[in-house]
Amino acid sequence: MSETSSAGNFVREIIARHLEDGRYQQVVTRFPPEPNGYLHIGHVKAICTDFGLAAEFGGRCHLRMDDTNPLTEETEYVESIKADIQWLGFDWGAHFYHASDHFEKLYQFGEQLISAGRAYVDSLSEEDIRAYRGTVTEPGRPSPYRDRSVAENLDLFRQMRAGAFPDGAHVLRGKADMASKNMKMRDPLLYRIRHAHHHRTGDAWCIYPMYDYAHCISDAIEGITHSLCTLEFENNREIYDWILDQLEWPTPRTRQYEFARLELSYLITSKRKLRALVEQDIVTGWDDPRMPTVAGLRRRGIPASAMRTFVERAGISKANSTTDLAQLEHVIREDLNASTPRVMAVLDPLKVVITGFPDETDWLDAPYLPEAGSETRRVPFTRELYIEREDFMENPPKKFYRLAPGREVRLRYGYFITCTEVIKDDTGTITELRCSYDPATRGGSAPDGRKVKATLHWVSATESVAAEVRLYDRLFSVESPGVGTDTIRDHINPASLTVVRGHLEPSLSDTAPGTRVQFERLGYFFTDPLDSTPEAPIFNRIITLKDAWARIQSRDDGAKKPAKKKPKKQGKGKKKPKMTRDEAKAGKPEALAATLDRYVDALGLSVQDANVLTSTAAISAFFEAALTAHDSPRSVASLITNDLRGLIKDTPVTELKIGGEAVGALVGLLDAAVISSKTARVVLAELVASGGEPEAIVDRDDLRQISDPAALTVLIDSVLARQPDAVADYRAGNRRRMGALIGQVMGASKGKANPGLLSSLLKARLEA
Ligand code: ATP
Ligand code: MG
Repeated sequence: MSETSSAGNFVREIIARHLEDGRYQQVVTRFPPEPNGYLHIGHVKAICTDFGLAAEFGGRCHLRMDDTNPLTEETEYVESIKADIQWLGFDWGAHFYHASDHFEKLYQFGEQLISAGRAYVDSLSEEDIRAYRGTVTEPGRPSPYRDRSVAENLDLFRQMRAGAFPDGAHVLRGKADMASKNMKMRDPLLYRIRHAHHHRTGDAWCIYPMYDYAHCISDAIEGITHSLCTLEFENNREIYDWILDQLEWPTPRTRQYEFARLELSYLITSKRKLRALVEQDIVTGWDDPRMPTVAGLRRRGIPASAMRTFVERAGISKANSTTDLAQLEHVIREDLNASTPRVMAVLDPLKVVITGFPDETDWLDAPYLPEAGSETRRVPFTRELYIEREDFMENPPKKFYRLAPGREVRLRYGYFITCTEVIKDDTGTITELRCSYDPATRGGSAPDGRKVKATLHWVSATESVAAEVRLYDRLFSVESPGVGTDTIRDHINPASLTVVRGHLEPSLSDTAPGTRVQFERLGYFFTDPLDSTPEAPIFNRIITLKDAWARIQSRDDGAKKPAKKKPKKQGKGKKKPKMTRDEAKAGKPEALAATLDRYVDALGLSVQDANVLTSTAAISAFFEAALTAHDSPRSVASLITNDLRGLIKDTPVTELKIGGEAVGALVGLLDAAVISSKTARVVLAELVASGGEPEAIVDRDDLRQISDPAALTVLIDSVLARQPDAVADYRAGNRRRMGALIGQVMGASKGKANPGLLSSLLKARLEA
């Protein structure tokens, strides 16, 4: 089992152990960015780890600019890095450093190494140094300059510093081991000559220390205890220790630990590639809200808390992997769901005239949040309204429940309306709908209990405010941007930004920049911190409410939903007639009957589910607690009324070891396709039996669905390689082979393959 799934964070365990056994009194970490670009989402993982673990154990974390390369660094980047770390909620206190602060000491240590016979000045050309270094299979050869005397080395090193030589004439090297299996240990370069202006030290230096030399010594000078970095530095650890050994640095001293980089599908995590997007004007700048930079995430409106949660949940391990972007999006939705006020806006308006509605404004009370007792604002209902164009169809297909000619729907917080007339222009485009309304349904429910199948959001056409709305979507349309093409432009999602003019309810006039809201049914939005003003607000879409990409993917793949099982027979083979709302309400106390109405009307539950969830005040509270963790009433209701009830039978929910929040969180994982429905039932059973946190159980038992196409393809290929006959048979037309092959790959994945993705990938493979 990987370190992630068992412990979540192996570095945390190491630090805890070192504090417990007294190796260190206090943990001191550092975050060492090279100021040559803006920080990106990968750095967020490093920052949360370096700063987060230090804070957790009562230690401190230094911010150190790794400014050893004078050619690439700029002050603009230093400032952006500081702002980004602060936004993430971390603080270096008085401990802000530059590697260049240590230049003089680093130089002195160089002389010390030379004097001890542990470093020498090499005068081979760069090319020869490479040739002498050997290969992975052949040892290196010693440079002809390796045995210079200490005096000669000292003299040359001092002259290097004094500027006596041009770039490349000499380097300082550690006298380590030219035959080492680790190529990095074959006399590592410590210093090089570079006549260049440095953004802090100016022209004081013309020799600059190499990363491997400067890093360990800077760590040691600053008293760092745990020097955390990414796996690509694993082979550098030997140099790190070797240099400190040669300097006879006392122990306990700093040690380097490596962890896996954060990589996400559909994103780029490389400063160099991100800079190319800026330089080619593919985005508006480093802080374009589509950029995976910290500045971009912040401007998009993603909360810092969501980023911290995401990193914490992803864990720290030593296994490289790519995380599905959908998992980050899931955490963002979950974070925003908790407390973002719900308001109404129409982005693609279709005018609706409510015939018979008086020429006056009816101010309706509307809650900001779904929980009972939420704060409210008033929204104006008028004779002329806008609804979303896609919420009406003149000739609706079977499953379209929204507005259509002759059909009645509910306008959220308002009235039931029925479409009576469709008005078109000369080209046949619908320009307006005429609708009647039922005055008795004010507030959203009919006294006679009649039901409607859809609730639409809307705004007044005459009392709304207009605003620019920037609809952001994923920047790239492929999972591995830049792979397989030289022009990154090929992989840009053409719909990554659409600007529209939206109509907003009047409570949104005067919205301050940097405010988050949910536009009901549309997504979460954030007033742009730079371009928005209270007079002319501009809303950035942070994220849609549902994962549109998962749907697009399964549609493109042509993956069919697994055939529905026959409905289970109830009783003795007879179908129970469905309970009417009146039957359900009869015999319930007034308050629970009203709650039932709310569940059906406002949350869209079936009468059956609403009936179960209002059987006691406790179960209703349990359900609502679940919604605070995951605001998806129908899926939460379904899990509680079907699976949970089946498990606990008549045990009152108040006696369970878990609260509703845990159930909500579980449904959240299910809805985000992090786990399969089968896994959800397994986890639920454990929650009921022993309590706990769904996410923790999923991590502990390594139950996440495999939704990474690359990982699944590896499994598929290994199964297919063992089954040449089945493959040939399928290709010859025996399509029924498919089922068995799916079963085998599923088995190979220990039941964790995302079924939809598996079947589409397998099909593609077989038909390739
Ligand atoms: P890039 O490859 O984008 O240029 P870098 O590693 O050169 O990034 P640095 O400024 O040197 O950027 O990185 C500072 C710290 O952030 C280092 O400790 C590095 O290991 C860490 N880091 C960089 N990228 C990631 C990532 N994708 N996941 C986790 N940590 C990262
Ligand atoms: Mg770097």
